Amino acid sequence: MRSILHVDMDAFYASIEQLDHPEYKGKPVIVGADPKGGKGRGVVAACSYEARTFGVRSALPISRAWKLCPEGVYVRPRMKRYVEVSAHVMEVFRRYTDLVEPVSIDEAFLDITGSAALLGRPDQIALSIKKEIHQTTGLTASVGLAPNKFLAKIASDLRKPDGLVVVQEKDIQEFLHGLPISRLWGVGPKTEQRLREMGFHTIGQLTAASRESLIRSLGSLGEHLFHLSRGKDNRPVVPNWEAKSIGSETTFDEDTDDRELLLRTILELSDHVAERLRKDGYRARKVTLKLRYSSFSTHTKQQSLDKRIQTGEELAQIARALFSQFPLTQKIRLIGVSAGDLHRDGEDPEQLPLFAYSNGKEKLGHTVDEIKQRFGTDALRRGSQLL
Ligand SMILES: [Mg+2]
Repeated sequence: MRSILHVDMDAFYASIEQLDHPEYKGKPVIVGADPKGGKGRGVVAACSYEARTFGVRSALPISRAWKLCPEGVYVRPRMKRYVEVSAHVMEVFRRYTDLVEPVSIDEAFLDITGSAALLGRPDQIALSIKKEIHQTTGLTASVGLAPNKFLAKIASDLRKPDGLVVVQEKDIQEFLHGLPISRLWGVGPKTEQRLREMGFHTIGQLTAASRESLIRSLGSLGEHLFHLSRGKDNRPVVPNWEAKSIGSETTFDEDTDDRELLLRTILELSDHVAERLRKDGYRARKVTLKLRYSSFSTHTKQQSLDKRIQTGEELAQIARALFSQFPLTQKIRLIGVSAGDLHRDGEDPEQLPLFAYSNGKEKLGHTVDEIKQRFGTDALRRGSQLL
């Protein structure tokens, strides 16, 4: 049996702001766009637990947050600082196992099955990691420990902040029984509605359905849900997304094999990644494309480059070439683009800031970022994205 951890930092951006500004401690801290007295556009990126008691949530329009919590402390994100803290956290993880799969800036899966002989019981390892994160960064994390990724991910979310939830093999059915079907990996709003129409509201109810009937009504997703609802998930912890990579991915509302839409999405994701590269001052020498087919099989292809790139167009050009190497024999569920092998601007003479704007495409990239910052992301879309 495997021992998988899902470690998720608690209110990551907001907690870092409270750490760096002790005067924010105990206050509702809202990280995101400028609220401009309630007229601001853009959204909440993250907020402290104090802000959540006012009903503020991430992804909420910032103007709405302002209405709910006008007395909040509103701050702009400091991505560079968050990336720096994230690197410390990931370093802690790697002291316990090589099998670390970062999911986002503040979350990772760890396979510690092989660490037990050397480091002790899995729950003790989980506690040590929590403690070491706190000592290293001053921040708390919540951890789920379970036989697989699906269960570990749910577990880490149940007792936030500073939680540790252990799911043992014998308790799996009971653990899942009353949870809503939306907790199942792969169930988005659309599938959720479909399942509810079929009379399934909890994971426990779903286990009453036969495998055949689920496949009949949902295809390969039905097969997938049949196993997940029983707490079965064989996905390995894959340490392939490098610590230093910036990526963006999207799950389609409906699986698709529309090549035009897929290529357009690759450009949008590339633009998004490029925006973050420029904001954090990085250039990439590797591009990775990730595809998940409707059968849930997931594939990646990478290309290393002999130059460093930073614009959405350059990223998209390579990502599209990688995409063309995949057969479109099945519909696509998810697509992702990431930039790896990152180097700081100015890490070598060729990258000095003096030359940063020397290339026309890069100049355009910076202008796009400025417009987005001033008017919001939707204000500017490139011609080909309007198709
Ligand atoms: Mg988190």
